[in-house]
Amino acid sequence: MSKRDYSVRQMFELGACTQCRLCADVCPAVSASGDGMLSALSRMKGLKQFLRSRPALFRRLFGDARLSEEIEKQFKENVFRCTLCGNCQEVCPVGIGLKDIWLALRENTVRAGAGPARIGTIRENLSESRNVFAEDNAERADWVDEMRDAPEDRYLRDRAEVVYFTGCVSAYYPVAQRIPMALARILAAGSVDFTLMGEDEWCCGFPLLGAGLGGMLRSFVEHNIEAVLRKGAKRIVFACPSCYRMWREYYPRRFEIFHASEFLLQLLREKRLPLKPLQLTVTYHDPCDLGRGARVFEEPREVIRAIPGVTLVELPNRREKCRCCGGGGNLEMFDPKLSAAITAQKMEEVAGTGAQAVVSACQQCVRTMTTYAKRNGVAIEVMDLVQLVHKSIVGQDA
Ligand code: SF4
Ligand code: SF4
Repeated sequence: MSKRDYSVRQMFELGACTQCRLCADVCPAVSASGDGMLSALSRMKGLKQFLRSRPALFRRLFGDARLSEEIEKQFKENVFRCTLCGNCQEVCPVGIGLKDIWLALRENTVRAGAGPARIGTIRENLSESRNVFAEDNAERADWVDEMRDAPEDRYLRDRAEVVYFTGCVSAYYPVAQRIPMALARILAAGSVDFTLMGEDEWCCGFPLLGAGLGGMLRSFVEHNIEAVLRKGAKRIVFACPSCYRMWREYYPRRFEIFHASEFLLQLLREKRLPLKPLQLTVTYHDPCDLGRGARVFEEPREVIRAIPGVTLVELPNRREKCRCCGGGGNLEMFDPKLSAAITAQKMEEVAGTGAQAVVSACQQCVRTMTTYAKRNGVAIEVMDLVQLVHKSIVGQDA
């Protein structure tokens, strides 16, 4: 490993840890596995021990020590056994930027050739297919063919005011494809001048960061920016919070960007969506990248409350304290058992609310929770916010 991926600020932050353990108490990976080694505190300790063997500044800050080979191996594995949910950073009283440290740590581990074998697959899939699943990128909008009511142009227009950037999960996973279908229908119902990008859309690059492959990001950013410019669009809407965050934080600001919850709320305020009553009790799960990551807490709740007949019951851990669904940080690729154990915890909390359905605003959460509910016979409906809104537009049984 090299020290070059850590900024001086991060080095000082490491030294500021008071070992209060608050990060361990809220970590879903720790509670689901019972393994304290997965906590931010343990990872910080391990990282400090690595850096002690480095010269000058680092040794002055952290002293001098070395890790045994076995502990070093375990440490490197644990770097990827994390959902990047950011709960640790949220509670850290010293304000340590833990999420950026986790990303730097992944990058450094991969550069040293010590990352999990799956990293190679992610690198290959994205560089060859431009999507994380190694699917044909020309089939990115093929979900439209499943819609009996799709227009002749399949929502693929040469120019439009708004681009709907679908993201890889919604484009290719059958269980998630209902989300873009619902959002496309809502945008059409609201007379929004929008287009999909089809094969011109490449992965937003989020999986690259989670896989420690941030060095590959630039070409994805440049390609996607050019593709949106060619459409003449001024605004971009995302149903995926990770795509949305990538465009907020890693792309140059050339367009107005909206998460679907924000865009829908605007359409509702402009009275462009005719909502019919639904008799349904739901709870809302704040996706990590939308809630803690982008601080969008109120808009999805306002959209839910705007639907007549729908009752919202809140989770005990909500808003900035919301617990991850288990689908973040590419964890499913590196440790599917741990990912499923985190989802089990989440679904238990959901069941405790007595809600008939859990609504999220993220295709990855919907996919993770739906898969768990189906496999384990959990009788709770899982849906995205856009599916809930679409249900209300067409009426409950449509
Ligand atoms: S980001 Fe989430 S899963 Fe990872 S260490 Fe922090 S609290 Fe645990
Ligand atoms: S919450 Fe912050 S200060 Fe406390 S142990 Fe975790 S990283 Fe250290």
